[in-house]
Amino acid sequence: MIEIVGEGIWKCAGSKIGPTVVVFGGTHGNELTGIEVVKKLLHTIESGQQMIESGVLYLILGNPRAIERNTRGSEDHADLNRCFKKDVLLQSDELYERKRAKEIAKILVNADVSIDLHATNKPSVPFLCCLADEKHEQIYRWFDCDRVLADPRYILAGEPVTTDEFIDVQGGIGICYETGFVGDLTRVDSVYENVLNVLCDQGLVTSPLPRGSMRGSRHVFELTERINLTEAGFRYADGRGKGSFEEFKKGDVLGYVGEESLIAEYDGVIIFPKVSEHWKIGQPVLYLGKII
Ligand SMILES: [Zn+2]
Repeated sequence: MIEIVGEGIWKCAGSKIGPTVVVFGGTHGNELTGIEVVKKLLHTIESGQQMIESGVLYLILGNPRAIERNTRGSEDHADLNRCFKKDVLLQSDELYERKRAKEIAKILVNADVSIDLHATNKPSVPFLCCLADEKHEQIYRWFDCDRVLADPRYILAGEPVTTDEFIDVQGGIGICYETGFVGDLTRVDSVYENVLNVLCDQGLVTSPLPRGSMRGSRHVFELTERINLTEAGFRYADGRGKGSFEEFKKGDVLGYVGEESLIAEYDGVIIFPKVSEHWKIGQPVLYLGKII
């Protein structure tokens, strides 16, 4: 049975007791693969091709206003996936993203697992963003990619702010999956299958049987630094900043903060180099990470 419980929020409850799983697409409105996967799941359940047998599945189109605009947020620099702070349920705020985060957080506090589907604004291979511990691997082992980016020190924003970090704080298991480059819609079917494997493994659906577990076969990276834009400005060194997981060596010049060189202090990778439309003083232009 499917119930609409909010704008872009569907609740599908099975007849037996089981875990509550939340699947998100469109937390950033221009990241279409996740939106298509959520719509496909909704369609297969509505049409009876797939039945939720136990537990509860929430399907959520994260940011309807941004989806409508086909932009990251409902306005420039608005970012729903930075609004899931610990106290989000206590906030009273008129800002659209913060109101939406509160509405969604009410679901996440009672959920066991959440899977938030994203895409990167510069080219990247698919990767998982979440803690790389045993309980997270139980869920993410079904995703078809060879790397995990963990951020146990909250380098991203200094504190838990994303859907996966929020549910982790609540004792659940949060996974963010970067499905690849935002302009690449070729992975909808494979990501849909990956999510279905998780749902089957959790007992929500009974077929198809999960397959393709990639347990223990991934490279784990950790975020190490956040490079913010300052009044001095920033530019990349030649050939740098084209996409996530671009490798660098200790001593390489990555870019320039004003006239000062940004020199790598260790071997690592560039993560989430922002497209220039998203640059804002005081906000990150890129992150650095390294393999652990
Ligand atoms: Zn995103």
